[in-house]
Amino acid sequence: MKLTDYKGILVYIEYENKNICQISLELLQEARILADIFYDDVIAVVLGYNIKDIADQCIYYGADIVWYADDILLEEYLTERYTDALEFLVKKIGPSSLLIGSSYQGRDFAPRLAIRLGTGLTADCTELGVKFLGDGIVDPNRGILMTRPTYGGNLIATIVCENHRPQMATVRSSMKVIKDITREGLVKEFFPLLKKSRVKILETIIEKTTEKIISEESVLVVGGNGVGSESMFKELYSLAKILNGGVGVTRTLVEKKWVDHSRQIGQTGTTVRPELYISFGVLGAIQHITGMENSNFIISINKDRNAPVFKFSHVGIVGSVEKILPRLIDRLSK
Ligand SMILES: Cc1cc2nc3c(=O)[nH]c(=O)nc-3n(C[C@H](O)[C@H](O)[C@H](O)COP(=O)(O)OP(=O)(O)OC[C@H]3O[C@@H](n4cnc5c(N)ncnc54)[C@H](O)[C@@H]3O)c2cc1C
Repeated sequence: MKLTDYKGILVYIEYENKNICQISLELLQEARILADIFYDDVIAVVLGYNIKDIADQCIYYGADIVWYADDILLEEYLTERYTDALEFLVKKIGPSSLLIGSSYQGRDFAPRLAIRLGTGLTADCTELGVKFLGDGIVDPNRGILMTRPTYGGNLIATIVCENHRPQMATVRSSMKVIKDITREGLVKEFFPLLKKSRVKILETIIEKTTEKIISEESVLVVGGNGVGSESMFKELYSLAKILNGGVGVTRTLVEKKWVDHSRQIGQTGTTVRPELYISFGVLGAIQHITGMENSNFIISINKDRNAPVFKFSHVGIVGSVEKILPRLIDRLSK
């Protein structure tokens, strides 16, 4: 097959309790934008058991075609089986690109699938774009530009998959999700050959938490290494309570074991987009910024006026956490 023969941007759909995950909704939107430039289709794929209604939903979020495999053997996520099913579909329909959320699942099966398909995988992309040949002419091979931080975040690399299809990427999208219930499309079933798995799930333990997940907070008070002490860090919770929000952190505070990974914002944590993001003693490393740069309003407090975080902030306050945080709590609580 020639590269021009591969068509369609395939998006892997993840869901929880019958709801499509945010990461997949954002990817459908991202794929929609690319497909409109290529005059191509957005194709979604859903795997599981009793999932036809999830497949139908994908149309409202930008898919033109949805393929679903409905089989009890796919009821629970298993790396090998999901890889088998996706390999089967990709070989059947020949998409030009395959986009997968940078989630635990996506990161788990994507490399295995890429090897099976004999193609490349760009992991943890923060941006996707269309390859132009110059003079506004779109690459006839539907080439996409896959951008990701590299060398520990010191460089931003844009990668192209020149010779193989599909172009595969795991992506952290930050697209605004658009739902249009008037959209129409095709929903089709496929029947992959599923082998007996060597892996058996013995028990699934669902983490119980009474706290809101950070991506759902509309106000986030965020602590970095510059908060200095654990007692000062606890003060962030007081401020968050006053502002009716939650607390997020940089990876440094997770490494210090002051808080668990579910509160980490960034490339290897959660992507957030609150109405208000207010940081204390956060450097603004690229790996953190990729997880919060689309927040609606960003306020940063840092004692170093050259801290990179200020470049991404609407309001920057040069000063120390220990002076500003208690004053802020005092003022706002009155
Ligand atoms: C592959 C990879 C993935 C990563 N993923 C993530 C990720 O998902 N999320 C993430 O956050 N990081 C991630 N990191 C780590 C990232 O590179 C940075 O090291 C980290 O974000 C820095 O954390 P920080 O801003 O808390 O700390 P520091 O780099 O120590 O910065 C502290 C800041 O606080 C300021 N400060 C110090 N004292 C005070 C004070 N008293 N008052 C006010 N300001 C003060 C300093 O001027 C400085 O700007 C990743 C790194 C790698 C290599």
